[in-house]
Amino acid sequence: PVLVKLREVVKTYHTPAGDFPALRGLSADFERGHLIGVIGKSGAGKSTLVNMLTGVDHLSSGEIWVDGVGVHALNENELALWRGRNVGVIYQSFQLLPNLTLLDNVMMPMDLCGLYHPQRSPQRAMELLDLVEMADQAFKIPSTISGGQQQRAAIARALANDPQLIVADEPTGSLDSATAETIFLLFERLVAQGKTIVMVTHDHSLARRMTRIYHIADGLWIDDEKDY
Ligand code: ADP
Ligand code: ADP
Repeated sequence: PVLVKLREVVKTYHTPAGDFPALRGLSADFERGHLIGVIGKSGAGKSTLVNMLTGVDHLSSGEIWVDGVGVHALNENELALWRGRNVGVIYQSFQLLPNLTLLDNVMMPMDLCGLYHPQRSPQRAMELLDLVEMADQAFKIPSTISGGQQQRAAIARALANDPQLIVADEPTGSLDSATAETIFLLFERLVAQGKTIVMVTHDHSLARRMTRIYHIADGLWIDDEKDY
C-alpha cells in the first residue's frame, strides 16, 4: 500500500536573477512501512523536496498525495493543520527548543495542534521518551545532553501526534558514525512498527540498508547504480 504519491512535482524559485527550477517533475510512490532514502549532492533539490513533503512550502505544479490527502490543494491554514497532525519532521540540527525540558519539547506538537491533555499528554510524552531510551533524561534541557541524545528526543517529538509519515533531513549528518548507527537502528525499529520514513542522507552506507533509494540530481531522479 502506497502512503505518499508524488506526481510530476515541480518547484520553481522566483529570484531577482530569474526563475530557478529546483524540482523538475518528480514522480514516485512511497510505500507504507518502508524506509525510503533520498540521496544526492548539495544543491540537488533534497531540502526543496523535504519542504514540499512536509508542507512548509507550496509546489509550483504537480501533486502530492499523503494517505489520500491532496496536500498540493490545501490552503495555508489547512496545510498548517495537516502538517502538525500528519507529518513528523526530524532535522540535522535537532531543533529542540533550548529553554524547555525534553518532556516539554515532546509535548510541544500536541499543544500546537490543540491535542494537549493535562494528564494524557505528559504520560504519552514520557512513553515516547521511553521508546527512544531517553525517559531518564526527561527533565533535562537540550544543552546538557549529547547530540545523539538530542536527536533521540527529537525523534520522540516527531512521533508526538502519531503521524504516519516521518521526514528526516540528514538526521545523522551532525553525528559520529557510532551514534548515527544507533539513530538508524531506531528508524529501522519504527519502520518495523509500520511507520514510513523518508530520509535524506549523504551517507551511502546507510542508504544501502534502506528498502528503497532515490537518487536526485538537478531536481530529477537519476539512475545511479555506479555509486554503489
Ligand atoms: P539540497 O538540499 O539538495 O542541497 P536545495 O533543495 O536546498 O538542495 O536546493 C536546490 C536548488 O534550489 C539549489 O540550487 C538552491 O540554490 C536552490 N534554492 C533552494 N532554495 C531556494 C530559494 N528559496 N530561492 C532560490 N533558490 C533556492
Ligand atoms: P542543505 O544543507 O540541505 O544543502 P542548503 O544550505 O542548500 O541546505 O539550504 C538551506 C536552506 O536555504 C533551505 O531551506 C533552502 O531552501 C534555502 N536556500 C538554498 N539555496 C538558496 C538560495 N539560492 N536562495 C534562497 N534560499 C536558498
